[in-house]
Amino acid sequence: MADFVAAVDQGTTSTRCMIFDHGGNEIARHQLEHQQIMPQPGWVEHNPVEIYERTSAVLQTVMNGRGLCASDLAALGITNQRETTVVWNRRTGRPYYNAIVWQDTRTDRIASALDADGRGDVIRAKAGLPPATYFSGGKIQWILENVPGVREAAEKGEAIFGNTDSWLVWNLTGGVDGGIHVTDVTNASRTMLMNLETLDWDDELLGFFGVPRQMLPEIRPSADPDLYGYTLDHGPLGGRVPLAAVLGDQQAAMVGQVCLRPGEAKNTYGTGNFLLLNTGTELVRSKNGLLSTVCYKFGDQPAVYALEGSIAVTGSAVQWLRDQLGIIQGAAQSESLARQVPDSGGIYFVPAFSGLFAPYWRSDARGAIVGLSRFNTNAHIARATLESICYQSRDVAEAMEKDSGVKLEVLKVDGGVTANDLCMQIQADVLGVPVSRPVVAETTALGAAYGAGLAVGFWSNADELRQNWNESRRWQPEWTDEQREKGYRCWQKAVSRTLDWVD
Ligand code: ADP
Repeated sequence: MADFVAAVDQGTTSTRCMIFDHGGNEIARHQLEHQQIMPQPGWVEHNPVEIYERTSAVLQTVMNGRGLCASDLAALGITNQRETTVVWNRRTGRPYYNAIVWQDTRTDRIASALDADGRGDVIRAKAGLPPATYFSGGKIQWILENVPGVREAAEKGEAIFGNTDSWLVWNLTGGVDGGIHVTDVTNASRTMLMNLETLDWDDELLGFFGVPRQMLPEIRPSADPDLYGYTLDHGPLGGRVPLAAVLGDQQAAMVGQVCLRPGEAKNTYGTGNFLLLNTGTELVRSKNGLLSTVCYKFGDQPAVYALEGSIAVTGSAVQWLRDQLGIIQGAAQSESLARQVPDSGGIYFVPAFSGLFAPYWRSDARGAIVGLSRFNTNAHIARATLESICYQSRDVAEAMEKDSGVKLEVLKVDGGVTANDLCMQIQADVLGVPVSRPVVAETTALGAAYGAGLAVGFWSNADELRQNWNESRRWQPEWTDEQREKGYRCWQKAVSRTLDWVD
C-alpha cells in the first residue's frame, strides 16, 4: 500500500510539488519560479513550455530527494492558478501564444462591451460571474482574434484551450501521443463559458466569445474515482500514478482548510486574496459584488458551490515595494519596515493595479496613495501596504455577510502573506474578529492531495481530514471599535479616489 499522496500546485509565481502522508503532514516539497512576462502595461504572460518544464523538474526533484518511486504514491492531485489561458496545437504540442495570465487587462474592451449590450446579465445569470478581464472567455477570444491561424485550427479541433491544469494533465498523460484533454468543474466555472447549473459548456455563452466547442476540454468532477488518467512510465514520476483530482487553487485551499460544510470560509493571501464561503449544494447568487462558483464536486455526489470575493493585488503589492520601489529587499522585510512606525501616518494605499476586483469590479480604477504629507516615510508606505491587504479583505467580508446572512466569527487564513505576523494582527484589528492559521499553511497543495486521496480511498471521508486540521496561531483584535470604524471610513474614501481613472 502506497504511503503518500503527491500534489502539484501550479501557481502564479511558482510551481511546487508537495508530498503528504495520511496525517496530512508534509513529507517533502520543492518549488521553482517561472518568468513573469510583461510586454506592455497591463499585460501579464507566462510561457506554458517553461511551466511544464518547471512542473517536471519539481516532481523529479521531490521524488529523487526523498528516494521515492511511483509505487510509493497512492495518487497525484493537481491544483492551479485559475483563469490563466493556454491555447495549443494538439498535433505538435506547441502553444500558439504565451499563457495570458488572470491579472492581464488587455481584454478590458471585450469585457466592457459585454455590459453595453445586455450579454453581461446573461453571463451573470448563467456563469455566476460579472463580465471582467479576469476570466478566461475574453482571453480565448483575444487569442482567436489576434494570433494568425488559431481560429481556423480551433474550428478543425486542432487548436485546443485549457487553463494550466488542462495543459499539465495533457502533457503528463501523453501529450501528442494521446494526452487527455480535460478540466474540472471548478476551473471550468471561471471561464464565463460554463453554465453553473448544468455544469456543461453553454452554447449561448460560447457564442458571446466566438469560441468553438471543439477547442474546449471535457469537464470532469474535481475528485474522480474513475480517474483522470495515469502518469507515464517515461514521465517525471518515473511510473504510473493515478491522476485522481484537479481543483482550482482557491477551491483546493477550501478543501485543504476542510471548509466542507455550508457556512465555513477561508481567506488565502497570495499574489491576490481570495475569500470563499461554502454555500453547500445551493447556488447562492451575490447581490453585493461576489462571484458564485463551484467549490468542488467529489465523484458523482452533487456539486458544492461557494461565494467568492477575489482581490487582484495583495501579496503582489508587497512584491511591488520590493521590485519597483526598491524599499525592501525581500517580502519579509515589509514587516520589519512597517514595524518602525505605530500606524500608517494618515496615508492609505489602494493597489488597484489591475482595476478593482470584488466587490467593486471596476476595470477603470488604478492605484493611488492618498493622504500624503511631508511627514511620511517608506515605513508608512510599507504599513499602508499591509493595511491595504486587510482593508480589501474587509470589503469582501462585508459583502459576504450581506449576501449570506452568516456573521464571520473567526477567519481561517493561509498563503504566503500569513507569514507576516503584523499583517495578520492588523487583519484581526480591521475586521474585529480573530484570525486563525493552521499548522499546514500550504492548504492549496494539501487540498489537491486530499481530493486525489479521497478519490482513490487513501482517505475515506471528510471527518478523517477534519482530524488533520490543527491551529498553529491565532490573532485577537486589539483596536477599539472607534479606531476600526474611523480607519474603514478613510479606506472607503481612498477607494473612491481611484475610480474612473482610465478613460
Ligand atoms: P501564490 O500561490 O499566489 O504564488 P504564495 O502563497 O506563494 O502566492 O504567496 C506569495 C506572496 O506572498 C508574494 O506576493 C509575496 O510578496 C507575499 N509574501 C511572502 N512572504 C511575505 C511576508 N513575510 N510578508 C508579506 N508578504 C509576503
